[in-house]
Amino acid sequence: MEREYSFQSEGLMDKMEEECGVFGIFSSDKKSNVGHLTYLGLHALQHRGQESAGICVNIDGNFKIHKDMGLVTNVFDEEKLQELNGEAAIGHVRYSTTGSSLLANAQPLLVNCNKGDLAIAHNGNLVNSSEIRFNLENQGSIFHSTLDTEVIAHLVARSFKDDIIEAFTHSLQQIKGAFSLVAMTDDGLIAARDPYGFRPLSIGKSGDSYIVASETCAFDIMDAELIRDVQPGEMVIINKDGIESFHFSEEKPHTFCIFEFIYFARPDSIIGGQNVHLARRAMGRQLAREMEVEADLVIPVPGSGIPAALGFAEESGIPYQKGILRNRYVGRTFIQPTQEIRDLKVRIKLNPIKEIIKDKKVIIIDDSIVRGTTSRQVIRMVKKAGAKEVHMAISSPPVTYPCYYGLDTSRRQELIAAKKSIEEIAGHIGADSLHYLSQEGLLNSINAEDYGYCTSCFDGDYHIKVGTGKFDLE
Ligand code: SF4
Repeated sequence: MEREYSFQSEGLMDKMEEECGVFGIFSSDKKSNVGHLTYLGLHALQHRGQESAGICVNIDGNFKIHKDMGLVTNVFDEEKLQELNGEAAIGHVRYSTTGSSLLANAQPLLVNCNKGDLAIAHNGNLVNSSEIRFNLENQGSIFHSTLDTEVIAHLVARSFKDDIIEAFTHSLQQIKGAFSLVAMTDDGLIAARDPYGFRPLSIGKSGDSYIVASETCAFDIMDAELIRDVQPGEMVIINKDGIESFHFSEEKPHTFCIFEFIYFARPDSIIGGQNVHLARRAMGRQLAREMEVEADLVIPVPGSGIPAALGFAEESGIPYQKGILRNRYVGRTFIQPTQEIRDLKVRIKLNPIKEIIKDKKVIIIDDSIVRGTTSRQVIRMVKKAGAKEVHMAISSPPVTYPCYYGLDTSRRQELIAAKKSIEEIAGHIGADSLHYLSQEGLLNSINAEDYGYCTSCFDGDYHIKVGTGKFDLE
């Protein structure tokens, strides 16, 4: 199914898009404002998904859920949040596919099974969900969505283990792929990360409440303190007795999605002890060390290119200028992926400042190129504004392979770097030269403690093999 193209409020088109953000909170106070706090957490995670939002709350043993299509601010108002006070809550924001069952795919997913009530919010993609779903359907299971999350819920419900934690453990041991999830049971919360640790998940604390979130920026908004990241292959259980954890899988090589550092995560988030903005700045500095181009100005593509452009300017000594203005009031628009409309959308969103650019040799910095549509339009605008030369510099290596672990990349034939050489891409986008950060330089720019990285979309080295027909490798 082709995916609609979203225009993120912060980034631009022609980016890989995050699939989801998850949040969970457990309070020892049975009437705490967990609904409001989850709302704030989801608001901070909005960049991870703008298609739908949902919150499920445990109110004295009764689960109450509200979810709908749209941004967090559109889905919830004060009246709805007033009804979502309780002792625990989980929430979810989703970047979704097109199709007729969009609301059915909104999360959290709430099920009532022989082990009690269970709500699940999940970020990531399973690579064996089609296979498991096929087997479950053959055994009589009925699915209401296309969510991988529902596969997990069915596995828990059908598990021969009576205890819900054991059933959950048993279920997670059967699934393969990327998952960072938060679940709510009658007693508390469960948080778990896949054995490879593809997607982020952190634990925080505010007063007596424990919080779990995709990114630490969700803690800051409520003055919560970061405790630590959930470890790959770890299950964390939070209830009235406190917090405990164990590993549900044998140790695997840590393959954290490096694109979280390049583009997806919010710059104020901390992953593995590393601030994301500072990592991006270091990528810009490294890019400057790897490039030999003389220029008058360094200009970021607004939003996504700023931290790397700052680092590039620091290292190279070439002045940094905001030579392209972003219209802040475009909002979010879903568009069909036709070439003409893509071009128009970029022009609505961005405008070069002629007085800064005219007669200058400029280096434009962005974090990545997926199809090349945005870069081409930006360069065309900057040249029309009178730039003498335009050199494009990208703070990541060429994206040559699609992602199967939860990110919306194009199919391989749509990735410009999968089809063209760097010189050909430069010609296609109209740049006088094009430079990418090396993979080694990228890895050296990040200082997350004890982290290993997935770089599959750059080198095609997939750590978990894909092959159930769900994905099309070509
Ligand atoms: S393939 Fe790329 S986008 Fe996907 S998880 Fe790996 S690094 Fe991230």
